[in-house]
Amino acid sequence: MTSGVDPAWPLDVESVLDRLEQVWDRVVASGGDRSAVTLVAVTKGFGPEVAVAAAAAGLVDLGENYAQELLAKAPVVEATGIEVCWHAIGRLQRNKVRSLAGVVGLWQSVDRSDLAAEIARRDPGAKILVQVNVSDEPQKGGCSPSETPALVDAAHQAGLMVQGLMTVGRTGSPDDARAGFALLRDLADELSLPVRSMGMSGDLEAAVAEGATMLRVGAALFGPRPARPST
Ligand SMILES: *Cc1c(COP(=O)(O)O)cnc(C)c1O
Repeated sequence: MTSGVDPAWPLDVESVLDRLEQVWDRVVASGGDRSAVTLVAVTKGFGPEVAVAAAAAGLVDLGENYAQELLAKAPVVEATGIEVCWHAIGRLQRNKVRSLAGVVGLWQSVDRSDLAAEIARRDPGAKILVQVNVSDEPQKGGCSPSETPALVDAAHQAGLMVQGLMTVGRTGSPDDARAGFALLRDLADELSLPVRSMGMSGDLEAAVAEGATMLRVGAALFGPRPARPST
């Protein structure tokens, strides 16, 4: 226990497991089914030791927003021998794809065709989700709902495995996010895509109620994130 890390952060496996149970309680209380929901542990902003603690707690789907962070943590987790799947969940620049190819297991934030083409080039046959901006908030990533079928089609054409759709809920109260989650579910249904990645720590109940199959959860598992160091 001499990690030198602020002890306010519950970094040990026991604490992660406790918080994980609380997250599952919330999922079940919202009508979700543990076996039908994948929890992606979002470790962005934390050091590699948090990713290792998550993996040791059985959270083998790990989400990162920034390429640099993901690439720094992946070898540390790999050294533990625990096999994990890294999810790229943040806004992605095309020039980052090359370095991430072979490390990322699911590209969740594909929101334009030039990005899909680059992923197909660097990581042929990769698994992706198409990110949709369901709330029309300009600061959020994602293609518009009306553009989604064409982008899904283009990604298929490029040889990518489009497993589903992803969205970030409207900022505000969890109830504000709900209509957008319903929209994502309907869109995924129309396109026969099984994965619906929606819901985070603050709005997972609404997402589960609207049929999320994948939640991306950070703060509820690991506590508040330390401030992001400037790069
Ligand atoms: C940070 C982030 C999350 C997790 O957010 P929490 O509030 O910590 O659960 C999920 N999805 C995306 C796209 C994120 O950027």
